[in-house]
Parts: sequence; C-alpha cells; structure tokens
Amino acid sequence: MADPIIFNIQKFSVRDGDGIRTTIFFKGCPLRCLWCHNPESQLYKKELVFRREKCTLCGRCVAACPKHCNVPDSAGHELRFDRTDCDVCGNCEDVCLGSARELCGKKYSIDELVKKAARDKLFYEQSGGGVTLSGGEVMVQDMDYIEELCRRLHEQGIRIFIDTSGHCPYENFKRILPYTDIFLYDIKAMDPEVHKKFIGVDNALILENLKRLSDDGAGIYIRIPVVGGVNANDVFFDSLIDFLKQNHIHVREISLLPYHDFGKGKYANLGRVYEEDLMWAPTPEEMGHYKALLEEAGYERVVIGG
Ligand code: SF4
Ligand code: SF4
Ligand code: SF4
Repeated sequence: MADPIIFNIQKFSVRDGDGIRTTIFFKGCPLRCLWCHNPESQLYKKELVFRREKCTLCGRCVAACPKHCNVPDSAGHELRFDRTDCDVCGNCEDVCLGSARELCGKKYSIDELVKKAARDKLFYEQSGGGVTLSGGEVMVQDMDYIEELCRRLHEQGIRIFIDTSGHCPYENFKRILPYTDIFLYDIKAMDPEVHKKFIGVDNALILENLKRLSDDGAGIYIRIPVVGGVNANDVFFDSLIDFLKQNHIHVREISLLPYHDFGKGKYANLGRVYEEDLMWAPTPEEMGHYKALLEEAGYERVVIGG
C-alpha cells in the first residue's frame, strides 16, 4: 500500500481531544456520512478544489490545462470546469493568482510528521495535549506507516489520540494499542438500517470493535454527532446506553456534537451535491435533554461540543 495522503495538519487545535493538539488529517474514508463536513477527506487520492467565488475569470487556467478541462462560456461570464479528464496535475493551481484552485492532499514522510509535531511539545506538556490522528479514517490507512508514526511519537513522550469511525479490521487497532492514549470513537446510529441509509454501511463492525477495544483496556471517549433526522431522538440514546451497559464498555467521556452545515460550501467546490433537506440541527434544549439522559445513566463526563 502507498504512503497515506494527508489533507491537513492543524496546529494548536483544541477540538480534537484534551489540551492543545496537533491534528493530522488522513485522506480516505470507507464511510459516507451524509453530513460529513470534510468531504475532501473521503477519497484516497488527491483532489482539485475549485472555489468558484474566488475565480476572476482571468483565463490563465484555460491555457495551462493539458486536458482542456476549463472552458469559458462565449460571453466570458463563467468558467465551466469539467472534471472528467482532470488528472489533478496541478498546473491550474500554479497559474491561478486568486487561490480559486487548490490541490488537496500531500504525502509526508514519518520523519517530517514527527518533526512537525515535536515542535509543540512544550504546549502539549503544559496543557495535557498531544497529537491526534484523524481523517477521513486513519485506521484504514497503510498500518505499517501508522504504527511506525505512533511508535515514534510515543517514543518522544507525546500522547496520542486516534479519532476513528471504528469501521476497520480489529487487527489494525491491535497494532497501535500500545502507543495510543485515547480513542475518540464515533457512534452515529444504533439501528443498522439507519446507519446504512445515512452513513453508507451497517454498524456491526463498529459496535463489535468498540466492545473489543474496551475489553482490551483502551481509553475511550465516545463522540456522537447529533443530527436531526438521523439520531436526535430518545430511541437512539436509549439504545446506545443499553449497548454500553450490556457490554460493560468503559467510557471515560462522551461528547455530543450538534449538527451544523458549515461544510456545505465544500461540496460545490468538489463538484458534489450536499443533501441538506434530510438533516437539521437539534435545539439547545434537545442537546441538554440528551446530555441529561446520559448523566442519569451514570456517565459523569458528558460534554456538548468537541
Ligand atoms: S486561473 Fe483561477 S482565477 Fe483565473 S480563470 Fe482559472 S480559476 Fe479563475
Ligand atoms: S489539475 Fe491539471 S488537468 Fe486538472 S484542471 Fe487543472 S490543469 Fe487541468
Ligand atoms: S466517518 Fe468522518 S470523514 Fe468519514 S464520511 Fe463520516 S464524517 Fe466524513
């Protein structure tokens, strides 16, 4: 398997686990959550982002494209971008002065990543932070690479959090367990049919892996995107609590992440459609109610937000 592609490295993040963190986002994900606010994270390859609102219609990309993907209309009011033959060569990004074109995705050596992450060690130590590996889905990348990255960060005394959907072979978790402090484990739906409809696959593997991680003594924070139309209802929360209790899953923290559509604009930039009519944001009252349900069930650390 080729080295993973990374689509973002976020320094000084305070949303991806405890303290101040460097978050490394890997590109490629086996799921297709309808609300995904990083659609650029889903494919396992580089992609070209076209921000139409930044295009000044200068025409430089028309001349630069060997595949003739960029065609201005006859009136010069619009640039048509047909991705069919685009091989993501990056020529248009090089000539575009308005940042309307951007190649998304880059490879890094493990040395480069460890060096970048280690620069902020002092901040991690003072804040209880560290490095989070996120995505896309980190647990379906080249696991030789991921295991070595985790081992090297761990060797530096850096605490590692893994942000995962849990949809991967359990053996992949086994390989990084010795180096991982916390798994930020997403649970999105308990009903397999709802899971299939909104996330693209059923949830059997995800729930099984959660149980096995807990049995193996992993540190687990559960993260729940709370989405109206998908899981913002008592049936979901009751079923989740039953599952956690019946399987004796040890959870250190639960985060409730209210749905938002901030990633909506990114879909158009990638030539895709965002199906906004099927989802909505829960009210603050609803969020408070779900938090109370979990607290009543005995979970002490329940937070709203990341
Ligand atoms: S080079 Fe950039 S600004 Fe110029 S037409 Fe192409 S996308 Fe638009
Ligand atoms: S990335 Fe290359 S092939 Fe694709 S539109 Fe730009 S110049 Fe053309
Ligand atoms: S698991 Fe995460 S990255 Fe993958 S589709 Fe869902 S929200 Fe997007």
